[in-house]
Amino acid sequence: MAHVKLHIPGPVEVSPQTFQAFCRPMIGHRGQGFKDLVATMQPQLQTLLGTKQLVYLSTSSAWGVMEGAVRNLVSKKVLNCMCGAFSDKWFDVSKRCGKEAEALQVPWGSPIRAEEIDRRLATGQFDALTLIHNETSCGVMSPLREIAALKRNYPEVLFIVDAVSSLTALPIAFDELGIDVLLAGTQKAFALPPGLSVFTVSASALAKAALAKDRGYYFDFVEFQKNAVDNMTPSTPSISHCYALSAKLDEFFAEGLENRYARHRQTNQMTRDWAARHGFNLFPEVGYESITLCCINNGARPGGRTVDVTQLQKRVKDQGFLIDGGYGKIKGTTFRVSNMGDETPESMNLLFAAMDAAMKPL
Ligand SMILES: *Cc1c(COP(=O)(O)O)cnc(C)c1O
Repeated sequence: MAHVKLHIPGPVEVSPQTFQAFCRPMIGHRGQGFKDLVATMQPQLQTLLGTKQLVYLSTSSAWGVMEGAVRNLVSKKVLNCMCGAFSDKWFDVSKRCGKEAEALQVPWGSPIRAEEIDRRLATGQFDALTLIHNETSCGVMSPLREIAALKRNYPEVLFIVDAVSSLTALPIAFDELGIDVLLAGTQKAFALPPGLSVFTVSASALAKAALAKDRGYYFDFVEFQKNAVDNMTPSTPSISHCYALSAKLDEFFAEGLENRYARHRQTNQMTRDWAARHGFNLFPEVGYESITLCCINNGARPGGRTVDVTQLQKRVKDQGFLIDGGYGKIKGTTFRVSNMGDETPESMNLLFAAMDAAMKPL
């Protein structure tokens, strides 16, 4: 079967080098070889996340850690910021964990604004705040720096940030921003196969977690910390993912993080230019567009042209590339193109050539 290259916003295309690393022979997860592997990655991960805290490896997709954060850290009430499918779901997950939760909902396509959060936190009801930095379902990036600055006025509220589809594509400085939990799944901007998440937790969040009686085991942050001190994980990790992550981190630092960030800005701008060239506008509010994907408006909002997305997607796929036909309630009235991971101007141009050809008869 011919391979269709992924340009959907996760999972993204995984390189042959990464798969090679993935296939190294197994080792024991309590042995020195594994500890050495983690010890090599730890400072790289700390640099990437901008932290002196230990970075943890969780053999789960991002939702495991997202749910874990709620279970470890919410005792009073959590404010869930909602601006798309994933952030909307986090509110639902909080309630499923039996927590008191309040929705801060804005329309899909709008960012979360610091003023809105301020008004809610000022009530004094909350001890945790969840934010999705880059809402992948509708391609919106919320102003993390402004929200982090505001959050400093509420030290009793723990700040839980999902950077699943943005971490590695732009700098996120955990310590400097005063974040309490920062997490990412690795099948998005890291360009690894799905199944591993990385996250870090502040000292105050760890202290709070230690008091939570019903935090469970698999996602117990205290267990992660205890094991990370010895370069280990609480339970048997996907060792293959750890090999692949290590190879990937070496690639990031060989390229240079600043170069990596610039490359994402460039390939994202190229995608925006493609959309504009074909008469489309973007779905998100102007100024809050993601830099790892474009959510292209196709009738969800007034303005811009519309096409038959199913046809477009099929014609692009026939040429060997998979783009996304829109998520949830904006399926078909938007479509999404990812520039996450290893994509370069050259590789994006191959995609755009296929998309240009697919657009011709539409
Ligand atoms: C993909 C995604 C998730 C969920 O990831 P899973 O791998 O399905 O657990 C959460 N948040 C964001 C922003 C995402 O893009």
